[in-house]
Amino acid sequence: MLFNKKASPVCLATLFVVMACLALIGLDGWRTWQTREDLLREAGVDTSNMAQALAQHADQTYKEADLVLQVLQEHLAEDGLGERSLQRIGRQLMSQVNELPQLHGIFVYDENGRWLVSSQRTLMTQYNNSDREYFIYHKQHDDSAAHVGPPVQSRSTGQWIFTLSRRVNKPDGSFGGVVLATISFDYFKHYYENFDVGRRGAILFALNDGITLIRRTRETATTGKDLRNAAIFRDYASKMEKGSAELVAPSDGELRINSFVRLRRFPMFVTVAVSKDEVLGNWRHDAYMRTIGVLFLAGVFAALGRRMVRQVKHQVRSEYDAVNARAKSDQLNATLVQLAMHDGLTGLPNRRHFDRTVAAEMARMGKEKGPMSLIMIDVDQFKLYNDIYGHAKGDECLRAVAKAIGASRKRSRDLAARYGGEEFALVLPDCDIHGAMSLAYSLRQSVTDLRLSHSGAKGGHVTISLGVASLDPVREGDNVLTLIERADQALYQAKQTGRDRIVTYPGSLKSAVREESRKPSQPRSRQDG
Ligand code: GH3
Ligand code: MG
Ligand code: MG
Repeated sequence: MLFNKKASPVCLATLFVVMACLALIGLDGWRTWQTREDLLREAGVDTSNMAQALAQHADQTYKEADLVLQVLQEHLAEDGLGERSLQRIGRQLMSQVNELPQLHGIFVYDENGRWLVSSQRTLMTQYNNSDREYFIYHKQHDDSAAHVGPPVQSRSTGQWIFTLSRRVNKPDGSFGGVVLATISFDYFKHYYENFDVGRRGAILFALNDGITLIRRTRETATTGKDLRNAAIFRDYASKMEKGSAELVAPSDGELRINSFVRLRRFPMFVTVAVSKDEVLGNWRHDAYMRTIGVLFLAGVFAALGRRMVRQVKHQVRSEYDAVNARAKSDQLNATLVQLAMHDGLTGLPNRRHFDRTVAAEMARMGKEKGPMSLIMIDVDQFKLYNDIYGHAKGDECLRAVAKAIGASRKRSRDLAARYGGEEFALVLPDCDIHGAMSLAYSLRQSVTDLRLSHSGAKGGHVTISLGVASLDPVREGDNVLTLIERADQALYQAKQTGRDRIVTYPGSLKSAVREESRKPSQPRSRQDG
Protein backbone atom coordinates (compact mmCIF):
# COMPACT_ATOMS: atom_id res chain seq x y z
CA MET A 1 0.00 0.00 0.00
CA LEU A 2 1.23 3.50 -0.80
CA PHE A 3 0.72 4.70 2.77
CA ASN A 4 2.77 1.83 4.24
CA LYS A 5 5.66 2.58 1.95
CA LYS A 6 5.49 6.21 2.96
CA ALA A 7 5.32 5.20 6.65
CA SER A 8 9.06 4.38 6.69
CA PRO A 9 10.00 7.96 7.75
CA VAL A 10 7.69 7.47 10.75
CA CYS A 11 9.49 4.22 11.62
CA LEU A 12 12.85 5.96 11.22
CA ALA A 13 11.77 8.88 13.40
CA THR A 14 10.46 6.48 16.08
CA LEU A 15 13.65 4.43 15.90
CA PHE A 16 15.74 7.59 16.21
CA VAL A 17 13.89 8.78 19.30
CA VAL A 18 14.01 5.35 20.97
CA MET A 19 17.71 4.89 20.15
CA ALA A 20 18.54 8.40 21.39
CA CYS A 21 16.73 7.77 24.71
CA LEU A 22 18.38 4.37 25.13
CA ALA A 23 21.79 5.82 24.26
CA LEU A 24 21.32 8.61 26.82
CA ILE A 25 20.33 6.16 29.56
CA GLY A 26 22.92 3.57 28.51
CA LEU A 27 25.82 6.02 28.39
CA ASP A 28 24.95 7.48 31.77
CA GLY A 29 24.52 3.99 33.25
CA TRP A 30 27.90 2.96 31.89
CA ARG A 31 29.56 6.12 33.22
CA THR A 32 27.95 5.64 36.64
CA TRP A 33 29.13 2.04 36.78
CA GLN A 34 32.66 3.10 35.78
CA THR A 35 32.70 5.68 38.59
CA ARG A 36 31.68 2.94 41.05
CA GLU A 37 34.45 0.63 39.82
CA ASP A 38 37.00 3.47 40.07
CA LEU A 39 35.93 4.25 43.64
CA LEU A 40 36.24 0.60 44.69
CA ARG A 41 39.63 0.32 42.99
CA GLU A 42 40.83 3.49 44.74
CA ALA A 43 39.53 2.19 48.09
CA GLY A 44 41.49 -1.04 47.52
CA VAL A 45 44.67 0.93 46.74
CA ASP A 46 44.16 3.28 49.72
CA THR A 47 43.59 0.48 52.26
CA SER A 48 46.53 -1.43 50.85
CA ASN A 49 48.86 1.60 51.15
CA MET A 50 47.62 2.34 54.62
CA ALA A 51 48.12 -1.28 55.76
CA GLN A 52 51.64 -1.17 54.34
CA ALA A 53 52.45 2.04 56.21
CA LEU A 54 50.96 0.77 59.50
CA ALA A 55 52.83 -2.52 59.21
CA GLN A 56 56.08 -0.59 58.78
CA HIS A 57 55.22 1.55 61.76
CA ALA A 58 54.46 -1.48 63.96
CA ASP A 59 57.64 -3.18 62.77
CA GLN A 60 59.65 -0.08 63.67
CA THR A 61 57.90 0.26 67.05
CA TYR A 62 58.77 -3.33 68.00
CA LYS A 63 62.25 -3.03 66.52
CA GLU A 64 63.05 -0.05 68.77
CA ALA A 65 61.84 -1.98 71.83
CA ASP A 66 63.81 -5.02 70.75
CA LEU A 67 67.03 -2.99 70.47
CA VAL A 68 66.63 -2.06 74.13
CA LEU A 69 66.16 -5.73 74.99
CA GLN A 70 69.20 -6.76 72.97
CA VAL A 71 71.42 -4.24 74.77
CA LEU A 72 69.97 -5.34 78.09
CA GLN A 73 70.54 -8.99 77.22
CA GLU A 74 74.19 -8.26 76.42
CA HIS A 75 74.74 -6.25 79.65
CA LEU A 76 73.32 -9.04 81.73
CA ALA A 77 75.46 -11.60 79.95
CA GLU A 78 78.58 -9.51 80.52
CA ASP A 79 77.97 -8.05 84.00
CA GLY A 80 75.84 -10.82 85.55
CA LEU A 81 72.89 -10.34 87.89
CA GLY A 82 74.80 -8.80 90.80
CA GLU A 83 73.35 -6.01 92.94
CA ARG A 84 75.44 -3.18 91.44
CA SER A 85 74.88 -4.29 87.88
CA LEU A 86 71.11 -4.39 88.45
CA GLN A 87 71.07 -0.90 90.02
CA ARG A 88 72.90 0.58 87.03
CA ILE A 89 70.60 -1.21 84.63
CA GLY A 90 67.55 0.07 86.53
CA ARG A 91 68.60 3.70 85.97
CA GLN A 92 69.22 3.09 82.30
CA LEU A 93 65.84 1.44 81.87
CA MET A 94 64.00 4.44 83.34
CA SER A 95 65.58 6.84 80.88
CA GLN A 96 65.00 4.48 77.93
CA VAL A 97 61.29 4.14 78.72
CA ASN A 98 60.99 7.91 78.78
CA GLU A 99 62.65 8.17 75.35
CA LEU A 100 60.46 5.60 73.62
CA PRO A 101 56.78 6.51 73.82
CA GLN A 102 55.62 3.01 72.86
CA LEU A 103 57.26 1.47 75.90
CA HIS A 104 55.08 0.81 78.94
CA GLY A 105 57.95 -0.76 80.86
CA ILE A 106 61.09 -2.89 80.79
CA PHE A 107 61.55 -5.75 83.22
CA VAL A 108 64.15 -8.34 84.17
CA TYR A 109 63.04 -11.62 85.82
CA ASP A 110 65.22 -14.34 87.30
CA GLU A 111 64.87 -18.02 86.46
CA ASN A 112 61.96 -18.34 88.95
CA GLY A 113 59.95 -15.43 87.62
CA ARG A 114 60.88 -13.00 90.39
CA TRP A 115 61.31 -9.31 89.53
CA LEU A 116 64.99 -8.39 89.54
CA VAL A 117 64.83 -4.91 88.02
CA SER A 118 62.37 -2.77 86.05
CA SER A 119 61.97 0.66 84.54
CA GLN A 120 59.54 1.50 87.31
CA ARG A 121 60.55 3.69 90.21
CA THR A 122 59.76 1.02 92.83
CA LEU A 123 60.39 -2.66 92.25
CA MET A 124 57.32 -4.72 93.00
CA THR A 125 58.99 -7.75 94.42
CA GLN A 126 55.68 -9.17 95.64
CA TYR A 127 54.80 -10.32 92.08
CA ASN A 128 55.97 -13.42 90.35
CA ASN A 129 55.69 -13.71 86.57
CA SER A 130 56.66 -17.34 86.13
CA ASP A 131 53.09 -18.09 84.99
CA ARG A 132 53.25 -15.67 82.03
CA GLU A 133 53.22 -17.05 78.54
CA TYR A 134 56.55 -15.43 77.56
CA PHE A 135 58.26 -16.74 80.70
CA ILE A 136 57.14 -20.32 80.05
CA TYR A 137 58.11 -19.93 76.35
CA HIS A 138 61.69 -18.84 77.07
CA LYS A 139 62.11 -21.45 79.76
CA GLN A 140 61.24 -24.08 77.18
CA HIS A 141 63.16 -22.57 74.22
CA ASP A 142 66.88 -22.00 74.57
CA ASP A 143 67.24 -19.66 71.58
CA SER A 144 68.02 -16.01 72.25
CA ALA A 145 65.64 -14.56 69.63
CA ALA A 146 62.91 -12.09 70.53
CA HIS A 147 59.48 -13.48 71.32
CA VAL A 148 56.24 -11.65 70.72
CA GLY A 149 53.47 -12.56 73.11
CA PRO A 150 49.70 -12.12 73.33
CA PRO A 151 48.20 -9.06 75.04
CA VAL A 152 48.15 -9.18 78.85
CA GLN A 153 46.99 -6.91 81.63
CA SER A 154 49.87 -5.36 83.50
CA ARG A 155 50.23 -6.60 87.05
CA SER A 156 51.75 -3.32 88.10
CA THR A 157 49.40 -0.80 86.36
CA GLY A 158 46.40 -2.85 85.25
CA GLN A 159 46.74 -1.51 81.70
CA TRP A 160 46.60 -3.67 78.58
CA ILE A 161 50.07 -4.26 77.21
CA PHE A 162 51.80 -6.24 74.47
CA THR A 163 54.95 -8.14 75.31
CA LEU A 164 58.29 -8.51 73.58
CA SER A 165 60.83 -10.66 75.42
CA ARG A 166 64.21 -12.33 75.19
CA ARG A 167 65.80 -15.18 77.19
CA VAL A 168 68.68 -14.53 79.60
CA ASN A 169 71.20 -17.33 79.91
CA LYS A 170 73.46 -18.10 82.85
CA PRO A 171 77.17 -18.36 82.05
CA ASP A 172 76.73 -22.14 81.70
CA GLY A 173 73.99 -21.61 79.08
CA SER A 174 71.12 -22.72 81.34
CA PHE A 175 67.93 -20.65 81.71
CA GLY A 176 68.72 -17.58 83.80
CA GLY A 177 65.60 -15.47 83.38
CA VAL A 178 63.77 -13.18 80.94
CA VAL A 179 64.08 -9.56 79.80
CA LEU A 180 60.73 -8.11 78.87
CA ALA A 181 59.61 -4.95 77.10
CA THR A 182 55.93 -4.14 77.44
CA ILE A 183 54.39 -2.04 74.70
CA SER A 184 51.46 0.13 75.50
CA PHE A 185 48.05 -0.71 74.05
CA ASP A 186 47.19 2.96 74.39
CA TYR A 187 50.15 3.93 72.21
CA PHE A 188 48.65 2.05 69.25
CA LYS A 189 45.15 3.12 70.18
CA HIS A 190 46.13 6.82 69.97
CA TYR A 191 48.31 6.33 66.93
CA TYR A 192 45.51 4.65 64.98
CA GLU A 193 43.16 7.50 65.85
CA ASN A 194 45.05 9.57 63.26
CA PHE A 195 43.79 7.40 60.40
CA ASP A 196 40.35 7.83 58.91
CA VAL A 197 38.79 4.53 57.94
CA GLY A 198 35.24 5.82 58.09
CA ARG A 199 32.55 5.22 60.66
CA ARG A 200 32.32 1.52 59.97
CA GLY A 201 35.94 0.81 59.03
CA ALA A 202 38.61 -0.76 61.30
CA ILE A 203 42.34 -1.16 61.76
CA LEU A 204 43.44 -4.54 63.08
CA PHE A 205 46.87 -5.33 64.50
CA ALA A 206 47.25 -9.01 65.35
CA LEU A 207 49.67 -11.84 65.95
CA ASN A 208 50.33 -14.32 63.18
CA ASP A 209 48.78 -17.04 65.37
CA GLY A 210 45.42 -15.22 65.17
CA ILE A 211 45.23 -13.28 68.44
CA THR A 212 44.18 -9.63 68.18
CA LEU A 213 46.54 -7.08 69.71
CA ILE A 214 44.27 -4.18 68.90
CA ARG A 215 41.21 -3.65 66.76
CA ARG A 216 40.53 0.04 66.35
CA THR A 217 37.24 1.43 65.06
CA ARG A 218 36.20 5.07 65.28
CA GLU A 219 34.44 4.46 68.59
CA THR A 220 36.19 1.49 70.17
CA ALA A 221 39.54 -0.19 70.67
CA THR A 222 39.49 -3.85 71.71
CA THR A 223 42.12 -6.51 72.29
CA GLY A 224 42.59 -10.22 72.83
CA LYS A 225 40.04 -11.50 70.36
CA ASP A 226 40.72 -14.89 68.80
CA LEU A 227 40.64 -14.50 65.00
CA ARG A 228 41.38 -18.07 64.03
CA ASN A 229 37.90 -18.63 62.65
CA ALA A 230 37.63 -15.21 60.97
CA ALA A 231 37.92 -15.40 57.19
CA ILE A 232 40.44 -12.56 56.99
CA PHE A 233 42.85 -14.63 59.10
CA ARG A 234 41.85 -18.17 58.17
CA ASP A 235 41.76 -17.65 54.38
CA TYR A 236 44.14 -14.75 53.89
CA ALA A 237 46.51 -13.37 56.52
CA SER A 238 47.56 -16.84 57.75
CA LYS A 239 48.45 -17.85 54.19
CA MET A 240 49.84 -14.78 52.42
CA GLU A 241 52.31 -12.00 53.06
CA LYS A 242 49.81 -9.41 51.89
CA GLY A 243 46.62 -9.08 49.90
CA SER A 244 43.10 -7.71 49.64
CA ALA A 245 39.65 -9.20 50.01
CA GLU A 246 36.02 -8.16 50.18
CA LEU A 247 34.51 -9.90 53.18
CA VAL A 248 31.32 -9.81 55.23
CA ALA A 249 32.08 -9.60 58.95
CA PRO A 250 29.89 -12.12 60.82
CA SER A 251 29.85 -9.85 63.90
CA ASP A 252 28.00 -6.93 62.25
CA GLY A 253 27.18 -8.24 58.76
CA GLU A 254 29.15 -5.36 57.21
CA LEU A 255 30.77 -5.90 53.82
CA ARG A 256 34.30 -4.47 53.98
CA ILE A 257 37.22 -4.03 51.64
CA ASN A 258 40.16 -5.49 53.62
CA SER A 259 43.87 -5.10 52.88
CA PHE A 260 46.41 -6.90 55.04
CA VAL A 261 50.23 -6.81 55.25
CA ARG A 262 52.53 -8.88 57.46
CA LEU A 263 55.31 -7.19 59.45
CA ARG A 264 58.76 -7.73 58.02
CA ARG A 265 60.63 -8.66 61.22
CA PHE A 266 57.99 -9.81 63.69
CA PRO A 267 55.23 -12.42 63.41
CA MET A 268 52.32 -9.99 63.20
CA PHE A 269 50.13 -8.45 60.57
CA VAL A 270 48.06 -5.30 60.09
CA THR A 271 44.69 -5.16 58.38
CA VAL A 272 42.91 -2.00 57.20
CA ALA A 273 39.22 -2.41 56.40
CA VAL A 274 36.73 0.11 55.03
CA SER A 275 33.00 -0.37 54.66
CA LYS A 276 32.06 -0.83 51.01
CA ASP A 277 28.76 0.77 51.76
CA GLU A 278 30.52 3.87 53.09
CA VAL A 279 32.95 4.00 50.17
CA LEU A 280 29.98 4.01 47.81
CA GLY A 281 27.84 6.29 49.99
CA ASN A 282 28.39 9.53 48.09
CA TRP A 283 28.50 7.73 44.80
CA ARG A 284 25.12 6.18 45.52
CA HIS A 285 23.62 9.58 46.26
CA ASP A 286 25.17 11.11 43.12
CA ALA A 287 24.12 8.15 40.99
CA TYR A 288 20.58 8.41 42.33
CA MET A 289 20.37 12.15 41.60
CA ARG A 290 21.92 11.79 38.17
CA THR A 291 19.68 8.87 37.25
CA ILE A 292 16.65 10.97 38.14
CA GLY A 293 18.05 13.79 35.98
CA VAL A 294 18.81 11.50 33.05
CA LEU A 295 15.42 9.79 33.25
CA PHE A 296 13.78 13.20 33.32
CA LEU A 297 15.80 14.27 30.28
CA ALA A 298 14.98 11.01 28.51
CA GLY A 299 11.32 11.58 29.36
CA VAL A 300 11.40 15.11 27.92
CA PHE A 301 13.24 13.82 24.88
CA ALA A 302 10.74 10.99 24.43
CA ALA A 303 7.82 13.42 24.74
CA LEU A 304 9.36 15.79 22.18
CA GLY A 305 10.23 12.82 20.00
CA ARG A 306 6.66 11.57 20.20
CA ARG A 307 5.47 14.96 18.99
CA MET A 308 8.01 14.90 16.21
CA VAL A 309 6.93 11.40 15.17
CA ARG A 310 3.30 12.55 15.17
CA GLN A 311 4.19 15.51 12.98
CA VAL A 312 6.12 13.28 10.59
CA LYS A 313 3.14 10.93 10.51
CA HIS A 314 0.80 13.83 9.85
CA GLN A 315 3.08 15.13 7.11
CA VAL A 316 3.34 11.72 5.47
CA ARG A 317 -0.45 11.34 5.59
CA SER A 318 -0.92 14.83 4.14
CA GLU A 319 1.54 14.09 1.35
CA TYR A 320 -0.23 10.83 0.65
CA ASP A 321 -3.62 12.59 0.58
CA ALA A 322 -2.22 15.32 -1.66
CA VAL A 323 -0.78 12.76 -4.11
CA ASN A 324 -4.09 10.91 -4.08
CA ALA A 325 -6.06 14.08 -4.63
CA ARG A 326 -3.73 15.08 -7.46
CA ALA A 327 -4.11 11.66 -9.09
CA LYS A 328 -7.90 11.90 -8.81
CA SER A 329 -7.89 15.42 -10.17
CA ASP A 330 -5.61 14.40 -13.07
CA GLN A 331 -7.95 11.51 -13.82
CA LEU A 332 -10.94 13.85 -13.71
CA ASN A 333 -9.18 16.33 -15.94
CA ALA A 334 -8.31 13.58 -18.41
CA THR A 335 -11.96 12.48 -18.40
CA LEU A 336 -13.10 16.06 -18.92
CA VAL A 337 -10.61 16.55 -21.73
CA GLN A 338 -11.79 13.27 -23.28
CA LEU A 339 -15.40 14.40 -22.96
CA ALA A 340 -14.67 17.89 -24.24
CA MET A 341 -12.71 16.66 -27.25
CA HIS A 342 -14.76 13.64 -28.35
CA ASP A 343 -18.14 13.04 -29.75
CA GLY A 344 -20.50 11.15 -27.49
CA LEU A 345 -22.31 9.20 -30.19
CA THR A 346 -19.45 7.92 -32.34
CA GLY A 347 -16.49 8.23 -29.98
CA LEU A 348 -14.55 10.08 -32.69
CA PRO A 349 -12.79 13.40 -31.98
CA ASN A 350 -15.36 16.19 -32.18
CA ARG A 351 -15.44 19.48 -34.05
CA ARG A 352 -13.44 21.32 -31.35
CA HIS A 353 -10.76 18.67 -31.58
CA PHE A 354 -10.84 18.91 -35.36
CA ASP A 355 -10.47 22.71 -35.31
CA ARG A 356 -7.46 22.58 -33.01
CA THR A 357 -5.77 19.73 -34.81
CA VAL A 358 -6.23 21.05 -38.30
CA ALA A 359 -4.85 24.47 -37.26
CA ALA A 360 -1.88 22.95 -35.42
CA GLU A 361 -1.04 20.53 -38.23
CA MET A 362 -1.34 23.26 -40.84
CA ALA A 363 1.13 25.43 -38.94
CA ARG A 364 3.45 22.50 -38.54
CA MET A 365 3.33 21.61 -42.22
CA GLY A 366 4.15 25.24 -42.90
CA LYS A 367 7.37 24.74 -41.02
CA GLU A 368 8.07 21.24 -42.30
CA LYS A 369 7.27 22.36 -45.86
CA GLY A 370 4.92 19.48 -46.63
CA PRO A 371 1.42 19.25 -48.18
CA MET A 372 -1.74 19.16 -46.14
CA SER A 373 -4.88 17.28 -47.25
CA LEU A 374 -8.44 17.20 -46.01
CA ILE A 375 -11.34 14.88 -46.90
CA MET A 376 -14.86 16.01 -46.02
CA ILE A 377 -17.36 13.15 -45.89
CA ASP A 378 -21.20 13.32 -45.86
CA VAL A 379 -23.67 10.43 -45.59
CA ASP A 380 -26.02 10.44 -48.56
CA GLN A 381 -29.77 10.84 -48.15
CA PHE A 382 -29.51 10.53 -44.42
CA LYS A 383 -32.57 12.57 -43.63
CA LEU A 384 -34.47 10.04 -45.64
CA TYR A 385 -32.74 7.21 -43.72
CA ASN A 386 -33.96 8.69 -40.44
CA ASP A 387 -37.39 9.09 -41.90
CA ILE A 388 -37.52 5.50 -43.11
CA TYR A 389 -35.75 3.67 -40.25
CA GLY A 390 -36.17 6.02 -37.35
CA HIS A 391 -33.66 8.20 -35.45
CA ALA A 392 -32.28 5.32 -33.33
CA LYS A 393 -31.39 3.30 -36.41
CA GLY A 394 -29.98 6.52 -37.83
CA ASP A 395 -27.63 6.75 -34.81
CA GLU A 396 -26.57 3.14 -35.30
CA CYS A 397 -25.86 3.83 -38.95
CA LEU A 398 -23.78 6.90 -38.01
CA ARG A 399 -21.76 4.82 -35.53
CA ALA A 400 -21.04 2.16 -38.17
CA VAL A 401 -19.95 4.75 -40.75
CA ALA A 402 -17.84 6.58 -38.10
CA LYS A 403 -16.10 3.32 -37.24
CA ALA A 404 -15.20 2.75 -40.89
CA ILE A 405 -13.91 6.33 -41.15
CA GLY A 406 -11.84 5.93 -37.95
CA ALA A 407 -10.41 2.64 -39.25
CA SER A 408 -9.37 4.29 -42.52
CA ARG A 409 -6.62 6.32 -40.76
CA LYS A 410 -3.25 5.11 -41.94
CA ARG A 411 -0.88 7.18 -39.80
CA SER A 412 -0.90 8.30 -36.21
CA ARG A 413 -0.95 11.94 -37.18
CA ASP A 414 -4.09 11.49 -39.31
CA LEU A 415 -7.25 12.62 -37.57
CA ALA A 416 -10.76 11.26 -38.20
CA ALA A 417 -13.38 13.56 -36.66
CA ARG A 418 -17.12 14.08 -36.59
CA TYR A 419 -17.51 17.48 -38.22
CA GLY A 420 -21.19 17.83 -37.36
CA GLY A 421 -24.48 15.97 -37.99
CA GLU A 422 -23.84 13.23 -40.53
CA GLU A 423 -20.67 14.96 -41.78
CA PHE A 424 -17.12 13.71 -41.02
CA ALA A 425 -13.62 14.88 -41.81
CA LEU A 426 -10.23 13.26 -42.29
CA VAL A 427 -7.25 15.53 -41.61
CA LEU A 428 -4.16 14.19 -43.41
CA PRO A 429 -0.94 16.07 -42.59
CA ASP A 430 2.10 15.56 -44.79
CA CYS A 431 -0.17 13.85 -47.36
CA ASP A 432 -0.49 15.04 -50.95
CA ILE A 433 -3.61 14.85 -53.09
CA HIS A 434 -2.75 11.41 -54.47
CA GLY A 435 -2.42 9.94 -51.03
CA ALA A 436 -5.66 11.62 -49.98
CA MET A 437 -7.52 10.34 -53.05
CA SER A 438 -6.25 6.85 -52.52
CA LEU A 439 -7.45 6.94 -48.93
CA ALA A 440 -10.83 8.38 -50.09
CA TYR A 441 -11.29 5.55 -52.53
CA SER A 442 -10.65 2.85 -49.99
CA LEU A 443 -12.88 4.61 -47.43
CA ARG A 444 -15.78 4.90 -49.88
CA GLN A 445 -15.33 1.23 -50.62
CA SER A 446 -15.30 0.20 -47.00
CA VAL A 447 -18.57 2.08 -46.32
CA THR A 448 -20.12 0.45 -49.36
CA ASP A 449 -18.87 -2.87 -48.00
CA LEU A 450 -20.82 -2.29 -44.82
CA ARG A 451 -23.93 -3.04 -46.85
CA LEU A 452 -26.17 -0.95 -44.65
CA SER A 453 -29.62 -1.12 -46.26
CA HIS A 454 -31.14 2.18 -47.34
CA SER A 455 -34.29 1.76 -49.38
CA GLY A 456 -34.34 5.48 -50.08
CA ALA A 457 -30.88 5.48 -51.69
CA LYS A 458 -30.12 4.87 -55.32
CA GLY A 459 -28.23 1.60 -54.88
CA GLY A 460 -30.40 0.40 -51.94
CA HIS A 461 -27.64 0.84 -49.36
CA VAL A 462 -25.90 3.57 -47.42
CA THR A 463 -23.27 5.49 -49.36
CA ILE A 464 -21.08 8.51 -48.70
CA SER A 465 -19.91 11.46 -50.78
CA LEU A 466 -16.35 12.74 -50.34
CA GLY A 467 -14.75 16.07 -51.11
CA VAL A 468 -10.94 15.92 -51.28
CA ALA A 469 -8.67 18.99 -51.17
CA SER A 470 -4.98 19.65 -50.69
CA LEU A 471 -2.97 22.78 -50.00
CA ASP A 472 0.71 23.64 -49.99
CA PRO A 473 1.16 25.91 -46.96
CA VAL A 474 4.52 27.20 -48.24
CA ARG A 475 3.19 28.38 -51.58
CA GLU A 476 -0.43 29.11 -50.77
CA GLY A 477 -0.20 30.18 -47.12
CA ASP A 478 -1.33 28.11 -44.16
CA ASN A 479 -4.93 29.19 -44.19
CA VAL A 480 -7.10 26.50 -42.63
CA LEU A 481 -10.35 28.04 -43.86
CA THR A 482 -9.14 27.86 -47.46
CA LEU A 483 -8.49 24.16 -47.14
CA ILE A 484 -11.88 23.54 -45.47
CA GLU A 485 -13.68 25.60 -48.09
CA ARG A 486 -11.95 23.71 -50.88
CA ALA A 487 -12.91 20.32 -49.41
CA ASP A 488 -16.43 21.63 -48.77
CA GLN A 489 -16.75 22.82 -52.34
CA ALA A 490 -15.56 19.48 -53.66
CA LEU A 491 -18.09 17.74 -51.42
CA TYR A 492 -20.83 20.04 -52.61
CA GLN A 493 -19.93 19.18 -56.13
CA ALA A 494 -20.06 15.46 -55.32
CA LYS A 495 -23.59 15.95 -54.01
CA GLN A 496 -24.58 17.97 -56.99
CA THR A 497 -23.28 15.43 -59.42
CA GLY A 498 -25.19 12.47 -58.02
CA ARG A 499 -23.72 11.47 -54.62
CA ASP A 500 -21.79 8.29 -53.75
CA ARG A 501 -18.65 9.70 -55.30
CA ILE A 502 -15.31 11.41 -54.71
CA VAL A 503 -14.60 14.91 -56.01
CA THR A 504 -11.20 16.49 -55.86
CA TYR A 505 -11.02 20.24 -55.53
CA PRO A 506 -9.86 21.69 -58.85
CA GLY A 507 -6.22 22.77 -58.61
CA SER A 508 -5.36 20.48 -55.74
CA LEU A 509 -3.57 18.11 -58.05
CA LYS A 510 -1.32 20.90 -59.20
CA SER A 511 -0.81 22.82 -56.03
CA ALA A 512 -0.34 20.25 -53.33
CA VAL A 513 1.63 17.31 -54.63
CA ARG A 514 4.86 16.05 -53.05
CA GLU A 515 7.86 17.13 -55.09
CA GLU A 516 8.84 13.57 -55.94
CA SER A 517 5.33 12.59 -57.20
CA ARG A 518 4.59 15.83 -59.02
CA LYS A 519 4.06 15.26 -62.73
CA PRO A 520 3.63 17.86 -65.49
CA SER A 521 -0.04 16.99 -66.11
CA GLN A 522 -3.06 19.25 -66.75
CA PRO A 523 -4.90 20.35 -63.62
CA ARG A 524 -8.39 18.91 -63.44
CA SER A 525 -11.24 18.24 -61.17
CA ARG A 526 -11.83 14.56 -60.74
CA GLN A 527 -15.21 13.08 -60.28
CA ASP A 528 -15.68 9.42 -59.71
CA GLY A 529 -19.01 7.76 -59.53
P1 GH3 B 1 -27.75 14.78 -48.78
O1 GH3 B 1 -27.62 13.49 -49.45
O2 GH3 B 1 -27.86 15.89 -49.69
O3 GH3 B 1 -26.66 14.97 -47.79
O4 GH3 B 1 -29.07 14.69 -48.01
P2 GH3 B 1 -29.25 14.48 -46.49
O5 GH3 B 1 -30.58 14.11 -46.19
O6 GH3 B 1 -28.22 13.52 -45.99
O7 GH3 B 1 -28.88 15.89 -45.92
P3 GH3 B 1 -29.65 16.84 -44.99
O8 GH3 B 1 -28.69 17.93 -44.56
O9 GH3 B 1 -30.85 17.29 -45.61
O10 GH3 B 1 -30.06 16.01 -43.73
C1 GH3 B 1 -29.14 15.59 -42.76
C2 GH3 B 1 -29.84 14.82 -41.74
O11 GH3 B 1 -29.03 14.17 -40.85
C3 GH3 B 1 -30.74 15.71 -40.94
C4 GH3 B 1 -30.60 15.24 -39.54
O12 GH3 B 1 -31.83 14.86 -38.97
C5 GH3 B 1 -29.74 14.03 -39.68
N1 GH3 B 1 -28.90 13.96 -38.55
C6 GH3 B 1 -27.92 14.85 -38.16
N2 GH3 B 1 -27.31 14.45 -37.03
C7 GH3 B 1 -27.93 13.25 -36.65
C8 GH3 B 1 -27.72 12.37 -35.55
O13 GH3 B 1 -26.88 12.53 -34.71
N3 GH3 B 1 -28.49 11.24 -35.53
C9 GH3 B 1 -29.42 10.96 -36.48
N4 GH3 B 1 -30.15 9.88 -36.39
N5 GH3 B 1 -29.64 11.82 -37.49
C10 GH3 B 1 -28.90 12.94 -37.59
MG1 MG C 1 -25.15 16.97 -44.56
MG1 MG D 1 -26.13 14.05 -46.02
